[in-house]
Amino acid sequence: MRPKFVVDANVGKLGRWLRMMGYDTLFINDIDDARLVAIGLREKRVLLTKDTQIMLRRVVTSGKLKALLIKDDDVKTQLRQVVETMKLNRRRQFTRCLECNEPLVPRSKDDVRDLVPPYVFKTQSHYVQCPACHRIYWRGTHWQRMNHELEMFMEVADVTGS
Ligand SMILES: [Zn+2]
Repeated sequence: MRPKFVVDANVGKLGRWLRMMGYDTLFINDIDDARLVAIGLREKRVLLTKDTQIMLRRVVTSGKLKALLIKDDDVKTQLRQVVETMKLNRRRQFTRCLECNEPLVPRSKDDVRDLVPPYVFKTQSHYVQCPACHRIYWRGTHWQRMNHELEMFMEVADVTGS
């Protein structure tokens, strides 16, 4: 089963990368620890945090709520830690909105004609859209760059994981 996550405010950037990999990841601004823990429990999400106090809560030490203490400040090292610990893969990358976490829906070229810049329309043929914020994604330079970055540190993860 694919793990779902809820990320603490102190590792918010990490949440974006997990979404990019297609993992259902909640990130809520200005949330207190108690609510964070409650959401994790209710929705069976793995809690990612840098807060050692949360890790000491009985609900975590008893194993009722799965939580992972993120050690590094660097987001790539953080992602590597989660990928290795949770055995994540990239089979469903680019299937979720980076902003809202919603699963993306395929759109035809005609659907997006008036919604994307003309040069994008001319050069791209595959589009997906977020049903919540209506943002349109295409496999242009932005995704390519992120994909490249992901590739680079997933390779590192493979090496250190073996
Ligand atoms: Zn969205």
